[in-house]
Amino acid sequence: MLFVTPELAPWMKSGGLGDVSMALPGALHRLGVDVRVLVPGYSPLAAAFERAKTVAELPHPGGVLAGARLRTARAASGVPLLILDCPEYYRRPGGAYQDARGRDWPDNHLRFGLLSRVAALLSTAATPAPWQPHVVHCNDWPTALAPAYAHYAGGARAATVLTVHNLAFQGIFPPHTLAELGLPPQAFAIDGVEYYGKLSFLKGGLFFTDGLATVSPTYAREIQTDESGFGLGGLLRVRSARLIGILNGIDTAAWNPATDAHLAARYDFARIEKKALNKAALQRSLGLAVEAEVPLLGVVSRLTEQKGLDVLAAIAPMLVRLPAQLVMLGSGEKRFEQAVAALARQFPGGVAAVIGFDERLAHLIEAGADIFVMPSRYEPCGLNQMYSLRYGTPPVVRATGGLADTVIDCNPASLADGSATGFVFHELAGAALLAAIGRAVSAWRDRSVWRALQKNGMAQDFSWERSARQYCALYESLFAPR
Ligand code: ADP
Repeated sequence: MLFVTPELAPWMKSGGLGDVSMALPGALHRLGVDVRVLVPGYSPLAAAFERAKTVAELPHPGGVLAGARLRTARAASGVPLLILDCPEYYRRPGGAYQDARGRDWPDNHLRFGLLSRVAALLSTAATPAPWQPHVVHCNDWPTALAPAYAHYAGGARAATVLTVHNLAFQGIFPPHTLAELGLPPQAFAIDGVEYYGKLSFLKGGLFFTDGLATVSPTYAREIQTDESGFGLGGLLRVRSARLIGILNGIDTAAWNPATDAHLAARYDFARIEKKALNKAALQRSLGLAVEAEVPLLGVVSRLTEQKGLDVLAAIAPMLVRLPAQLVMLGSGEKRFEQAVAALARQFPGGVAAVIGFDERLAHLIEAGADIFVMPSRYEPCGLNQMYSLRYGTPPVVRATGGLADTVIDCNPASLADGSATGFVFHELAGAALLAAIGRAVSAWRDRSVWRALQKNGMAQDFSWERSARQYCALYESLFAPR
């Protein structure tokens, strides 16, 4: 199986996909699947695997795409990597999709066209690599042209699977890029890559892929509607029979409060009182009042429209008056970064904000906060609510996507049957969020209720093995009839 991805943690990560791309192939490898990961040779990867061996030259894949070479290395998990080395496209300072100032790279269609094209090439008998997969598993728009390229190449090929991690990002480019990408003119049609007069990587992928997955059962249903389908709801309804939701797992080794080196104190449920040391450390290091008896709300998030933090910011004055404290770690759009920083200035000692990407602090917030908050407008799967469950930090979440599939609302019935793990609200509005946080704070003040919630959450199985088994079944269902 060939797993194709534009992000691979720890070298290149802009969100959850970087983590998924390291963990899922690792879990498949442990199940005995012969899996390799195809990833662009970004500068950090090229530096980390300086001595990677060249296994194939790809002189001129077609269109105006640059030539490249494939190099092999092995990740610490044991998974072989196929590094797509093309210095002209990938060796730059900055992120996978944007430069250091947050502007999209102007040649993204070529950068990810090449990635898709090489994935398709590897899936055919013409593969330049000494290995041919039965299944090519693509992830998000940067890889989504692979099924289209494979289709237009014709002949025998591997089955394709496309996982949609976030439907909002679609890779839409002007029509003239079709020729640059080396796609035939007839591809620019409703039964091809055309989308409202433009070229869409994701639409092409959704149309041509054999198997289709997304990262939670609820999100799989939501994206088939016109409201949440980002313009692709109709196509997704047509492909409904092929679409399944498989929840992401989490990296249970990196995110384990019993062994986490980023914490001030390590703990598990049997030593849950040690969690308080992390709260104090967090309060102290961020200039919050060091108060055990004031509930501390935590946020770790990309700062974008999707995450609904504008709704949280609007009720911050009410939260401070409860009283509660709020710590927010995030980076993203400037307007949200400024709004979050302004809140911290407005409520010194009550609200702390750190703008930036900080892995260590993310772990400390998961451990040190009492309650985690995720008021997302939509959330395909979400990782942070699973981390927070595991860290005994019950989350307050909006009932959308993977949040709805992983958090069970606390009420008398769910407490009685031992399923309660957090607090769920529905309407994306300040009043609804405030009410849910109010319920959480009341429960937090009741020691026995809170311990029950923590225990239920900490016992959840979010291992990748579970997801990997579901993906294996999907691969087999596609492969068997061929
Ligand atoms: P998304 O993929 O939409 O960003 P997820 O919850 O699925 O959301 O995954 C987010 C991942 O990125 C988590 O591992 C989270 O801890 C991490 N993360 C997000 N923002 C930051 C940040 N500012 N600092 C550290 N880690 C962050």
